[in-house]
Amino acid sequence: MRKFELPTACAWFVILICVIVLSGWQFDVVILRRLLPWAPPTTPLTTVLLLSLSLALLCSSRIKTGQKFTNPVPCYFLTLAALFIAIWSGLQYVLNLRPGLELLLYGQQVQAQGGLFPGRPSPHTAATAILIGTAIGLSPQMYERSRRLGTILCLLGIMIPWVALFGYASLTNPFYAVDNAPKTGMSPLTALAFITLAIGVISLHPKDGLAALFTADTSAGRIVRRILPVVILAPLCFGWIIIYGRESGMFDAPFGIALSWGVTSLLFAGLLLWQSQNLHEVDQERQWAFDEHEQLIKVMEKEKEKFRNLLELAPDAMVIADEQGIITMVNVQTSKLFGYERGELIGVPVEKLIPDRFRPGHPAHRKKYHDAPHARPMGSGMELFGLTKTGQEIPVEVSLNTLTTDEGRFVLAAIRDVTLQKQAAEQIKQSNATLKEQAEALEKSNMELQHFAYVVSHDLQTPLRSISGFVQLLQQTYEGKLDEQADGWIRRTVQNTQRMQTLIHDVLAYSRIEARSNPFTSVALNDVVNEVRDVLSDSIREAGAVIEVDELPAVMGDRPQLIQLMQNLVGNGLKYRRDEAVRVKISVRAEKDHWVISVRDNGIGIAPEHFQRIFDVFQRLHTQKTYPGTGIGLAICRRVVNRHGGNIWVESEPGKGSCFFFTIPKTEVTKL
Ligand code: ADP
Repeated sequence: MRKFELPTACAWFVILICVIVLSGWQFDVVILRRLLPWAPPTTPLTTVLLLSLSLALLCSSRIKTGQKFTNPVPCYFLTLAALFIAIWSGLQYVLNLRPGLELLLYGQQVQAQGGLFPGRPSPHTAATAILIGTAIGLSPQMYERSRRLGTILCLLGIMIPWVALFGYASLTNPFYAVDNAPKTGMSPLTALAFITLAIGVISLHPKDGLAALFTADTSAGRIVRRILPVVILAPLCFGWIIIYGRESGMFDAPFGIALSWGVTSLLFAGLLLWQSQNLHEVDQERQWAFDEHEQLIKVMEKEKEKFRNLLELAPDAMVIADEQGIITMVNVQTSKLFGYERGELIGVPVEKLIPDRFRPGHPAHRKKYHDAPHARPMGSGMELFGLTKTGQEIPVEVSLNTLTTDEGRFVLAAIRDVTLQKQAAEQIKQSNATLKEQAEALEKSNMELQHFAYVVSHDLQTPLRSISGFVQLLQQTYEGKLDEQADGWIRRTVQNTQRMQTLIHDVLAYSRIEARSNPFTSVALNDVVNEVRDVLSDSIREAGAVIEVDELPAVMGDRPQLIQLMQNLVGNGLKYRRDEAVRVKISVRAEKDHWVISVRDNGIGIAPEHFQRIFDVFQRLHTQKTYPGTGIGLAICRRVVNRHGGNIWVESEPGKGSCFFFTIPKTEVTKL
């Protein structure tokens, strides 16, 4: 449904009046054309005039809402027709012209009415029609000046019918009629129609001028809406009361006038007080609101001050820029870092602090950040640089944050000078490089040494074997044939030669781990243990040892080296025994990505302070007499385990036995 439009409603109301009046003429019903039996009638010509004005208003209101058509020509045409009738009638009075137009419609009925100028619109009607008609003619135009002129014309135009209506109410003939011509005035229906038309024209533009005042939700609007009807209606009512009182003989004229003055002034005083009180309250509320606002502004200023102070305390350079990248605030650290005075930075683009080569791309970065703002370090993974006033570039780290305020969105950039960190990092990089070089050199010399040990021990074996052979020959041939001392010497030579052979053999085995390694293959550890049992079968038998073995996994490794590892661990278990039956147990435990193999014995045990050093080369805890050995076995074990990507350690308690653990990866390992 269409919204209720006041101008349209006014136009239709006037059309209705016209229809009523015309039917009054058509069917000769007097009351329909004059409303009051003694009042002048609305003439047929006036009705035509009103009809064209109301239709023109209807057109204008349609143009305004812009729904049906926007062509103002019909509006102008209808207005001109009405103006023509009005001006023509006016001229008739001024130039005393003969009757013409006014008798065209219902001429006979009109003349039958009698009067001075039967059927002619009254001078009041003509004048009002010219004023309001011109206003309607101006209304389709959108110029403010013409609209204002229209309103003024309407206000002037409304006064005449209003005075006429007042005349009817107070039975004051001169207000509505031409002097001495009782049937020629403006009829009450015409007056009503003109007032309605004027209201319609004024409300065509509800957003400005008087119409806006009437509809406004302000104190002024409320006052107008409350007081105006009273101001208009009160005198009318009092007029009637006075006339009624006078006619019915209740009081005489002076009393009536005094009564009307008294009551009117009381009423207006009351109204004035009531509305002033209202206004006063509104003013007070406004003042409170204003005070509150002031207070709020002060609080905000304080908050801003706090924020500024905080900014100053920040250890980094803080720069705040708006969405266009214009700097709005900087702290003292910024001035220190970039060498600019504060005033030199406020109001300039942030790009001023960026080296030339980064400037072209920066606005795009800024836009990207504004489109998806969140706290983050700027240009992560990129080296960032700031540009000082002197043109020097400084390495910086920047973190960005958004600040949303009433004045819009801002970006807060915290800029940190990272020159020192950069230098430190550079130094660390350099010393790392030196360390790496040294480690490589060390590795190289180690390799050379190992190779040397390997070659030496390997090459020593042959002469040693021949010495050992000859010494043994000496012993076999000359034992008991020389004196006791010579026998003793020969025996010790044989022993030392054998010991030297073991030593050389072990050193060779140790150096072989790196120098003679085999590619990794899948090795079943139970097979390894079986092989070890074979190799050590004599010792096992001699020690009366029981060797228990769990179900062991298969691993990727160097089979001969794994045999060597197990042989050393089990061999030690047999060697470092107490005076009771030897028990060696080999078990396994699964971890996330490696196996933990343990070799437990019930031998003499090891004191905790030796747990570490027994894995070093030539580290022994016993003399050759108590337990013979070279101190290389566990060093070999550690090397083998390390080469397979694992660790080796021992847990033990002296007198109770030891348990050696080593780890080995579950998956295939790359050869070291
Ligand atoms: P070696 O057995 O030739 O002396 P190892 O490197 O195998 O050399 O062992 C180093 C030392 O660790 C040994 O001298 C011994 O004191 C101690 N040790 C090794 N295994 C055991 C064990 N199972 N029980 C007690 N002590 C051990």
